Amino acid sequence: MFGRMPKKSNNTKYYEVLGVSKTATQDELKKAYRKAAIKNHPDKGGDPEKFKEISQAYEVLNDPEKRDIYDQYGEDALKEGMGGGSSSDFHSPFDLFEQLFQGRSGFGVGRGHRQKRGEDVVHTMKVSLEDLYNGTTKKLSLSRNALCTKCKGKGSKSGAAGTCHGCRGAGMRTITRQIGLGMIQQMNTVCPECKGSGEMISEKDKCPSCKGNKVVQEKKVLEVHVEKGMQHGQKIVFQGEADEAPDTVTGDIVFVLQLKDHPKFKRKSDDLFIEHTISLTEALCGFQFVLTHLDGRQLLIKSNPGEIIKPGQHKAINDEGMPQHGRPFMKGRLFVEFNVEFPEPGALTPGQCRSLEKILPPRPAGSRLSDMELDQCEETTMHDVNIEEEMRRRQQHRRQQEAYDEDDDEDAGPGPRVQCAQQ
Ligand SMILES: [Zn+2]
Ligand SMILES: [Zn+2]
Repeated sequence: MFGRMPKKSNNTKYYEVLGVSKTATQDELKKAYRKAAIKNHPDKGGDPEKFKEISQAYEVLNDPEKRDIYDQYGEDALKEGMGGGSSSDFHSPFDLFEQLFQGRSGFGVGRGHRQKRGEDVVHTMKVSLEDLYNGTTKKLSLSRNALCTKCKGKGSKSGAAGTCHGCRGAGMRTITRQIGLGMIQQMNTVCPECKGSGEMISEKDKCPSCKGNKVVQEKKVLEVHVEKGMQHGQKIVFQGEADEAPDTVTGDIVFVLQLKDHPKFKRKSDDLFIEHTISLTEALCGFQFVLTHLDGRQLLIKSNPGEIIKPGQHKAINDEGMPQHGRPFMKGRLFVEFNVEFPEPGALTPGQCRSLEKILPPRPAGSRLSDMELDQCEETTMHDVNIEEEMRRRQQHRRQQEAYDEDDDEDAGPGPRVQCAQQ
C-alpha cells in the first residue's frame, strides 16, 4: 500500500505534551489543550515554541485518522505525509487557538495574536446637534509615541541589542529576602535595569535620534469624520493610531461622541422635539411661526384652518427629524409640543367677559345656581398654590420623619423597651 514502510518513531510525545493518557477521549484532549494553551500563550508571556508544540499535538490527536497513524508509526510518519495532504503544514497555532476558544479565553479576538497589543486611547469628542444633523469633519492634533525611523525601533545604531546583565535577558528577576528567622521569601519582579525588555544597549551604540528609547514623540493630525445621523456615545475608531512600541501591535485611537445640549431641539433616536409657546388667541384662532432648522433652513409652521390647539398637545412634521446614520436621505419626524399662554389675571373687564361669553360655547347646564341652592351651601375661599413647591416640601418632611424614626429605634437598642412602672 505504501511505497516503503516507515520506521516506527516516537509516538507518545504528543500525549505527554498535552499531559493526557493514550486513551484520552476527544473531550479530554480539548480540555487538556485549552488548559495548556492558555498557560503557555505568548500573549501571557508563554514560550512560543512550547505553544506551537501544544497546538501541533492537539491538531494531530484531535483528528482520528492522524491520531491512528501517529499511534502506529509515530511523528515521522505524519511528517512524511501519510495523513493525506501535507500534514507537516500545520495551522497557525494562534488561529487554532482562536478558532476553538474565540471570545472565551480572555485573549483579544481578531488581529495581533503574534504580538502583544498596545493600549487603545479613548477620547470623548463633543459635538453639537448641528454637527450630527449635517455631518462634519474635525481636525485634531495629537501627539503619540512612534517607532524611531532612524533605528527602525531597535534603539541602537548597529541594530543589535545586548543581553541585559541584570536579568540575563529574562526581563524578570527573582529577589530573595529574609523575612524573620530562617524564613526566606522569593519574589519575581520586573528587571529594573532593562525595564523588562531583557535587552541592554551600550551607551556608544545608542541611536542618537531616540537615545535608545526606540520610540520618539510624533505630532499627528487626525481628521475625524462625523457622519450625518451619528448618535451620542457612538465610537469613531482609528485603527492602529495609538502609541507605537516595539514588538507590539499598535492600539486604536477611539473617539466617543458626546452630544452637547441644544437650546431648542431635543433628540430621541431619529426624531427631534421642540417646545413652542403660543398665546391663547393663537391657540383659538390660528398661528404661524418660523423655525430655523439645524441646517439653517427656515420652516414655516402653521395651524390648519379652524384648528384649536390645546395646552400640552403634540403635532408632528414628517421627514424633518434627524437623518438616519448610513441612510441620511431617510429622516425621522419633528415633534412640536405646544404650550398655551393664558392672559394674566385682570386682563379682561366684565364687559369683555360678557362679549366673550357670547362668542365662546355656553357654560355647562346646571352651573347657574338658584338663590335657594346657594343658601344651602357653605362659602369657601380658594388660594393660589405652587403645587410643585408644595410636593417638594411634603417629601422633605417625610424624609426628616424617617430619619427621626431611625434614630429613635437606635436609642431603644436591641433589648426590650423600658416601660414606665404604673403604680
Ligand atoms: Zn534586565
Ligand atoms: Zn532610534
